[in-house]
Amino acid sequence: MEDILVIHSGAGSDQSYNPRLERYARESFRQSGALDSVVEAVRIMEDDPDFNAGTGSVKRIDGTIQMDAAVMTAGSIGSVVNIERVKNPILVARAVMEKTPHVMLAGDGAVTFARRIGFEDYDPSTPRTEELYRKALKILSGSEKDIPERYASYLKYAGIFGIPENKDTVGAVARVSGKFAAAVSTGGSSPMMRGRVGDSPIPGAGLFAGEKGAVVATGIGEEIMRRSLCYSIYHQMGKEKLEDIIKREIDGFRGVLAGVIAITEDSYASYSNSSMAVGVYRFGK
Ligand code: ASP
Repeated sequence: MEDILVIHSGAGSDQSYNPRLERYARESFRQSGALDSVVEAVRIMEDDPDFNAGTGSVKRIDGTIQMDAAVMTAGSIGSVVNIERVKNPILVARAVMEKTPHVMLAGDGAVTFARRIGFEDYDPSTPRTEELYRKALKILSGSEKDIPERYASYLKYAGIFGIPENKDTVGAVARVSGKFAAAVSTGGSSPMMRGRVGDSPIPGAGLFAGEKGAVVATGIGEEIMRRSLCYSIYHQMGKEKLEDIIKREIDGFRGVLAGVIAITEDSYASYSNSSMAVGVYRFGK
């Protein structure tokens, strides 16, 4: 069976990133396994300041940066929620999976754990972070009649009001030697309150991996969580064509920003209701 690694840089991300993602996919593929491949892919993208994960993560309304990341294989999950001041949340998520009896660590507990196992204090903000923060504050200070619904600010990001900044979260799915893994990392879906948790670190919502495949989601986390999107797709795998399953699920978002990458035993697919950069690396037969 062919090995494969598929990575994305977020629903709404510019397709001009495709060549970069192709290169990242090639560089991060590891024959040692699907888990090593997806974690390395996400780590590389976290270190790229153009993406909203690790270095370059967006700020919360209060100006702080809290990040979410998760990794999953069949039967194993590690997740960090609202972690702050670490360079690579995905490596901490993997450590939660491999070094603790837990599945998720949140907030100051996640930071304390990271420090204890050697992750140094690190400021992930960049000039781009500051620029996006200024824009987010401007949106929020808009007149109330412009924000009549709970999701108005997010819908603006979906491009409806021409401010497509809710993007550039990163994720990866891999199949290596017939085993699957999924990984995801994000600074979140700005503008958002401190403490807000998106879909990304939630198994079944932002990612899922099992015996028959792996899925990672991107887009408006609140809507993704309401649908348990990744588990919903995983559950349907094998019943019909993967492309048809993910298209139907994403079309159900009715324009609220959402996208997915997925792999099964014999196929892979990506689909988003807005632009989404994707990189694919295939190895062997
Ligand atoms: N799903 C992420 C979140 O809501 C954001 C994204 O994928 O763009 O935190």
